[in-house]
Amino acid sequence: MRLILIFFLVFSSTFSQEKCGSELYREFLISKGLFNVSNFSDRGLSQIGQYDIPVVFHIIYNNDQENISDDQIISQLEVLNNDYNTENEDFSNVPDTFLNVASSSGIRFCLAQLDPLGNGTSGITRTYTDLESFSMSEDKMKITSEGGIDPWDTEKYLNIWVCNLSGNLLGFATYPGADASLDGVVIDYEYLGVVINSPSPYNLGRTATHEIGHFFGLEHTFYAGCSDWDGCEDTPPISSSTFGCPSFPQESCGSLDMTMNFMDYTNDACMCMFTMCQVDKMIDVLIGQRIGLLENSFCAYNSLHYFNPNKKLIQVVDVLGRNTSNNGFYIEIYDDGTVKKKYLLK
Ligand SMILES: [Zn+2]
Repeated sequence: MRLILIFFLVFSSTFSQEKCGSELYREFLISKGLFNVSNFSDRGLSQIGQYDIPVVFHIIYNNDQENISDDQIISQLEVLNNDYNTENEDFSNVPDTFLNVASSSGIRFCLAQLDPLGNGTSGITRTYTDLESFSMSEDKMKITSEGGIDPWDTEKYLNIWVCNLSGNLLGFATYPGADASLDGVVIDYEYLGVVINSPSPYNLGRTATHEIGHFFGLEHTFYAGCSDWDGCEDTPPISSSTFGCPSFPQESCGSLDMTMNFMDYTNDACMCMFTMCQVDKMIDVLIGQRIGLLENSFCAYNSLHYFNPNKKLIQVVDVLGRNTSNNGFYIEIYDDGTVKKKYLLK
């Protein structure tokens, strides 16, 4: 028991120096009684499909620089959709030895098209704040009366708050089980989307890719070091977090290190893959605890490229083209020629 305590103390003291705050944030929430540890279950429900996740970005700014542009936000969505579907250009950097476990998730992200009241929306909120920065320990960015903005229904939307985080933190997320009023992802405004000509090595939008991995239940690949307790056997054990851009191959626990996994800490330009097990875990969480994200029509797959609020749904068919009720796989056909593929559990 004492060993475990020392272990956590050592870990906790290093967290504050690190780029991702999700593990420490989970400790905060547990200590405040705002996290249901038993809420996580492996239901073995993983299924291949296409899953459309409606996202709302809450931009909270104290100056023009923090009030990032729509283009910046769109660039983040494109990175997410590439990374979660092995469509990222640098997927070709996955070493041959890991190609057999690298996997696409079928998860796609769109800007929400309807707000919680059912009105059309851009999927982006902008809130001026008097606060110059936000701390992970206070949650003010998630509370309107504290200078931030309350989340949209966290069962139906993936809320991403973008603000100036104090310290060196790039972002943090809630794992499944967090209190609904705090559920979602927070990213420092400097690391949201692709920032061309940035001096930072975290300028390619991978902070959100990583944090959303936590949101869907993934642990760091270096979680507990060589003991390999990250819950996935196809992510080799690795002794500690990796910074910079290491060359391949290298070993730390007697096996090849998968430093290019999105759930490590390398530079944005040097991470490029999830594994099959990680994908299984994420889909498990999505169609388990986070099924509400799939149960509403707030998402249109094509909304990334153009937003047409006036298009009308003509027909809902199954994969064989037969009219169907909204159950399992189905396809919505709109009068402007676009289609939306969905998967729904009832
Ligand atoms: Zn992390």
